Amino acid sequence: MLDADFFRRWMTATAASVNREAQRLTALDAAIGDADHGSNLQRGFTAVLAGLEKEAPDTPGAVLTLAGRRLISTVGGASGPLYGTLLRRAGKALGDGAEVSEEQLAQALRAGVDGVMALGGAALGDKTMIDALSPAVDALADGFPAARSAAEEGAVATVPLQARKGRASYLGERSIGHQDPGATSSALLIAALEEAAAG
Ligand code: ADP
Ligand code: MG
Ligand code: MG
Repeated sequence: MLDADFFRRWMTATAASVNREAQRLTALDAAIGDADHGSNLQRGFTAVLAGLEKEAPDTPGAVLTLAGRRLISTVGGASGPLYGTLLRRAGKALGDGAEVSEEQLAQALRAGVDGVMALGGAALGDKTMIDALSPAVDALADGFPAARSAAEEGAVATVPLQARKGRASYLGERSIGHQDPGATSSALLIAALEEAAAG
């Protein structure tokens, strides 16, 4: 079972890897967007950690709901409301139990991904974060390492795609040949689950 501390470790590990990879995320966004994805997420996850410190939520659902709210309120770019919706929806779906199962987590993240798709209108193959998140959530039934691989493969698979949502879509065919920044950061988020599970 996964408790509030697991979810705190998940957010902490995500913030750390976003900080490590911020330059790479921004470079990817420079190629097909406006070069702010790394700094957007650094600002967002720094605010998530500060919020967790300040409010000390004590259930898995409350940790994710708070994280989602913080992302929405601190990240101006598209990724803020989208990641915020992912985590807030997932947090709501987890309810207020003190512990949740991995299966409940998988179902909650599926609800979160559905929320992102409803908000942003992106489907699988549109070269967005959905291309990493959706296969990762499907693979969660096979464990965190399987989800991590699926997310990383999904992010790499965005390279030959033409963007149909977000800023990159303004480039039309010129978006082909570049890895989507949001799918790349989604792979970091999913990889951090494995770190959280390691303790
Ligand atoms: P902005 O584009 O506003 O500068 P970011 O650079 O932080 O925001 O985030 C860009 C990422 O957000 C993209 O790489 C893509 O993965 C994701 N994204 C943008 N629009 C959508 C959408 N409508 N649905 C899903 N993901 C999207
Ligand atoms: Mg951007
Ligand atoms: Mg921007």
